[in-house]
Amino acid sequence: MGDVTGFLKHDRLKKENETPESRVNHFKEFAIPWSERQYKDQASRCMDCGVPFCQSGCPLGNKIPDFNDAVYRGEWKEAWQVLKSTNNFPEFTGRICPAPCEASCVLGLNSKAVNIEHIEKEISERAFLEGWEQPIEKVESSGFAVAVVGSGPAGLASAEELNKEGHKVTIYERDREAGGLLRYGIPDFKLEKRVVERRVSLMKEVGISFKTGVEIGRNISALELKEKYDSVILCTGSTVPRDLAIEGRTLDGVHYAMDFLKHQNQLLAIETQEHLAQYNTKGKRVVVIGGGDTGADCVGTSNRQGAEQVTQIELLEKPSLLRLKTNPWPEWPMILSTSTSHEEGVDRDWAILTKRFVGKKGKLTGVETIKINWVDKDQFQYEEVPGTENLIPCDMAFLAIGFSHTEHKGLVSQFGLKLDVRGNIHTNDYQTSEENVFAAGDCRRGQSLVVWAIAEGRKAANAVCKYLELNVAEV
Ligand SMILES: Cc1cc2nc3c(=O)[nH]c(=O)nc-3n(C[C@H](O)[C@H](O)[C@H](O)COP(=O)(O)OP(=O)(O)OC[C@H]3O[C@@H](n4cnc5c(N)ncnc54)[C@H](O)[C@@H]3O)c2cc1C
Repeated sequence: MGDVTGFLKHDRLKKENETPESRVNHFKEFAIPWSERQYKDQASRCMDCGVPFCQSGCPLGNKIPDFNDAVYRGEWKEAWQVLKSTNNFPEFTGRICPAPCEASCVLGLNSKAVNIEHIEKEISERAFLEGWEQPIEKVESSGFAVAVVGSGPAGLASAEELNKEGHKVTIYERDREAGGLLRYGIPDFKLEKRVVERRVSLMKEVGISFKTGVEIGRNISALELKEKYDSVILCTGSTVPRDLAIEGRTLDGVHYAMDFLKHQNQLLAIETQEHLAQYNTKGKRVVVIGGGDTGADCVGTSNRQGAEQVTQIELLEKPSLLRLKTNPWPEWPMILSTSTSHEEGVDRDWAILTKRFVGKKGKLTGVETIKINWVDKDQFQYEEVPGTENLIPCDMAFLAIGFSHTEHKGLVSQFGLKLDVRGNIHTNDYQTSEENVFAAGDCRRGQSLVVWAIAEGRKAANAVCKYLELNVAEV
């Protein structure tokens, strides 16, 4: 540990961002890097705490104290080597990870956690700038061919790991471009698409083949795919959105959040010029239903398009500002989070039930709501509070209430895969109920995070390597 008293000398530094008034005028990323000195000071706050809970809090097991130490010493290449040893894509996690590592940082017990995520991003950007981030050459060819279905972070991570082991990897993706939710879900102001393209280009350079615009289960059947490859990994995501089957749902102006966000991403990538009016919030009053991250992305996107007013409502009650006794460190803190999108302007309310959508001549004009009291959160029981009925006038409403599970029609049903109780693909050590077909990421664990998708992609690739060695190599 370079400076054992660093945490006593330096406070946690806030990330610097372009002001909300300025950044709302564009869709680009808006974080302003710190100075070299500031990065080193912040890295020096990492204590020699003996048991680094941050490392176990990170699904990838990133060796955080080690890269912080290297940054403090100015050894940025070493820091990058440490980071890359566990994380295929620190350029993604350094930008958009909610940082479970910081939630479990030991310093967070009685002070502010080390600013791990921001340091991670800087390490990764320097690696690209300095040319350390190069295509990872594979070892000698194994002679095996593996198909990966889906090019989100789980698919990309598994492909990179398999390729390193000498397997010939082909990624199938039904969208026009690779990246999954990194490209089509997460807005540019959180993750510019050049960052995704930069990674995909490196992967192509080492011979990973991308077949986009191809849906397995439709253009190629599941069984055809299995016959063609020695092994298959499914990384198809959790793409079935939760719906709100209430009166007025079909009114013009009520949309799934993902349809809105995908359209905006496609517009910026000049992939579409259709449905411009349908998904444009300029001058409109918007209600976002769902208080999570997807909802926040809708808030940020609506404001950038020029919405007149944005309201975000959530069924759960308002979280506390500080950890409750029942939610101690190092658990993930269930506290109020205010994202950069919220800073840009929104009215937020909690414990609100959406009763019905109202409209005129087929067009949405408002959302009728009522306040609720939670009776038993574990049993999902609540009661409506009489006299709190409200009508929020609006022209557009976005449903950002999560995703149920992966799609069952097509690929999953053609393979006849066993599902878990929530409708995700059931696996045993990443192997599905179909011999030699594996699964990773949101299609297996349900909607989650990029860092989990990368971790799962790595583990599934490892399971495939073991399988090929033990079962296919002997044949
Ligand atoms: C709007 C939004 C914002 C988010 N923001 C964040 C964030 O800030 N930070 C964070 O950590 N997480 C965030 N998440 C969650 C994160 O994006 C996901 O957990 C992660 O992308 C899951 O990765 P994946 O590879 O499992 O699936 P996905 O990224 O969903 O990729 C699955 C891919 O499979 C393809 N596919 C599906 N079926 C087929 C088929 N039959 N044939 C061919 N291709 C197929 C899909 O087209 C898609 O490209 C966000 C999610 C959403 C919806």
